[in-house]
Amino acid sequence: MSDKVYMVPNPPTPNKAVEFNPDICSGCNLCVDVCPTDVMMPNPEKKKPPIVLYPEECWYCGGCVEECPRPGAITMLHPTQQRISMNWKRKDTGELFRLGMKNPPPPNTRPPSG
Ligand code: SF4
Ligand code: SF4
Repeated sequence: MSDKVYMVPNPPTPNKAVEFNPDICSGCNLCVDVCPTDVMMPNPEKKKPPIVLYPEECWYCGGCVEECPRPGAITMLHPTQQRISMNWKRKDTGELFRLGMKNPPPPNTRPPSG
């Protein structure tokens, strides 16, 4: 029986979850350690960015970006369906609006029930 351990990526997943800047990342693997769902694995090559192995497991909790000691080394790539609720801004006028609405609705001023 072989002593080798294999990790097999999930190729059908189209999203990458997180992206590394190899010019900034030191390969310290702190992000790998803090990830609650083991999305990444350490790169077998020392000082290289980790490898995203199971992007579909990402919770988008941001722990990896928060804990990274080198700003800009890791960036979260939110799926499109999670970005669509954001406000859109018209560059020339600064007008804010949402899809299907000319302007954002006024803030909810009702106190919480109970
Ligand atoms: S992204 Fe940040 S925490 Fe992760 S290996 Fe690179 S430097 Fe370390
Ligand atoms: S956002 Fe959270 S779940 Fe996703 S890779 Fe980073 S630490 Fe892991």
